[in-house]
Amino acid sequence: MSERSDDIWCSVRMRTSASGAHLSGGERLVPLVSAHVRAAELLQRGISSTGGRAASVVLTCDLVPADDILTVTALEIITEPATTVPDSRTRAQSLLRSWGVSDVASRVAIASIEHGVSPMGRSMRGAMIIDAASGARLEDDPERGVRVSFVDMTEASCRAFSAEHGDQLPRPRMREALTLASKIAALPSVRAELCWSDDPDYVTGYVACRSEGYHRLTPMKQAGVPTGGRAIFVDARLYDPLRDIEFLRRAPVLVELSGVTDTEEA
Ligand code: AMP
Repeated sequence: MSERSDDIWCSVRMRTSASGAHLSGGERLVPLVSAHVRAAELLQRGISSTGGRAASVVLTCDLVPADDILTVTALEIITEPATTVPDSRTRAQSLLRSWGVSDVASRVAIASIEHGVSPMGRSMRGAMIIDAASGARLEDDPERGVRVSFVDMTEASCRAFSAEHGDQLPRPRMREALTLASKIAALPSVRAELCWSDDPDYVTGYVACRSEGYHRLTPMKQAGVPTGGRAIFVDARLYDPLRDIEFLRRAPVLVELSGVTDTEEA
């Protein structure tokens, strides 16, 4: 990790809900001069992505001094061959095992995501924090989880990523997931992460680990299934809830693809 020097940046966050239940969200970390454009894009996405179900769209903007921003290198992307949901989950579990996540812990995560992560059986707006050894849930609010924010990919890396992967607006899913995973993996207490989307049409998921990269797996669920979730596996001996949740929620981080330096922003 290294520090950046620049002007004022802005964390822009969007969440939609109906009857008090979370529906969707999004986050950007952008130079203040472009914050209004990114906020409008997120607002549009919040309205359109929920198919008219959203009763409320909340936009939050926090100013961030550029000197506070850390830059981390994006995880390497590896696409795993898999053809069925059981294949993908078996492969995910075996990778997690090799990264120090016990079978108990990965089973807890998979079963929770499968059945709807929150105690109400719905998807959460944030991630579960799971003890990589015991499988215990460690987040203090299991209804909401921990929402990772104040994060984005640098402009130059976004362009390079789109050119290579064709992952575009309105929802550059893979780029956003890689960006979140790269911030999460930068936390020393994190062993690994597991995720698949709650979008019924998006069946690709991943497992990720700082030293071993971001492993894409398709399909991680059957098409049409409306539940998904994220599990962050931590080493409980290194995990400090106050410090680590503050990092995930509020530490401003820009993710840069290896070999792509953002000269315009530097
Ligand atoms: P998505 O890939 O956006 O469909 O998200 C899949 C699941 O990951 C959601 O149901 C949430 O539980 C969780 N999630 C989404 N965004 C975040 C975030 N920024 N931080 C933590 N968890 C998230």
